[in-house]
Amino acid sequence: MNIRETTLIVLATCLFACTNNKGKVAEEPIETKPKVELKEPTDPKETELYKPVPPTVNPTGQHGVPSDAIVLFNGENLDNWVHTKDGSPVQWVLNDDGSMTVKDKSGDIQTKQKFDCIQLHIEWRSSSEKRASGQNRSNSGVFLQERYEVQVLDNNDNDTYVNGQVGSIYKQSIPLAKASVPTGEWNVYDIIYHAPEFNSEGDKTKSATITILHNGILIQDHYEIKGTTPYIGWPKNNPHGKAALKLQDHGDNSGVSYRNIWVRELKN
Ligand code: MG
Repeated sequence: MNIRETTLIVLATCLFACTNNKGKVAEEPIETKPKVELKEPTDPKETELYKPVPPTVNPTGQHGVPSDAIVLFNGENLDNWVHTKDGSPVQWVLNDDGSMTVKDKSGDIQTKQKFDCIQLHIEWRSSSEKRASGQNRSNSGVFLQERYEVQVLDNNDNDTYVNGQVGSIYKQSIPLAKASVPTGEWNVYDIIYHAPEFNSEGDKTKSATITILHNGILIQDHYEIKGTTPYIGWPKNNPHGKAALKLQDHGDNSGVSYRNIWVRELKN
């Protein structure tokens, strides 16, 4: 190859590299606005905001619940809940100690009220008498918007698949730590949940996210939920709006109890 041929190949290569996919020569973007350079503040007041003023919340309002929270269960009754299968009154057992216990094979229960983005506080206790193994030991679940399960399970000396263990987003996200208290004692989940968004065609435009503290330990860190959490199959993303908070009756005599359930509604 002589010098002239080599030069032509180099020129052609440059021209190809400088064109966009419509075959036009790419143009350098033209700066239409002058760059605004913020001057480094010299007065502390320049970086102080006084609006908007956040609302005041008493963190230990009535009965230790935040003053702006919606109490879903405080041990007095099950009036805020219905059975998922038919909307009938809840058959789960209301205990004298202010808790409720799953009534085996009565079915899942869910709140009458529907939610999207929430801060959720919920306490649960595995049974110290039921000693089945794997997924059958004190299995229940907290379902955000009726379809995204945070696993409840007694994993103490009881291994199972890690994306189905206590604190997992079931079959999706392994918890960052195993933070359960001893079997038979009360666990606490504090959950920050942001609902997914869908466009008018029904396509998901924003994934739900979830952050979970289990007994004060971070176990899910702003995880993007992939979709529903089925036992068999891949996550699904059918569009939905506000939906209930659901608690699972796993149907194997789990003996799981719940108490002190409240939510604070959040903005997305
Ligand atoms: Mg479960």
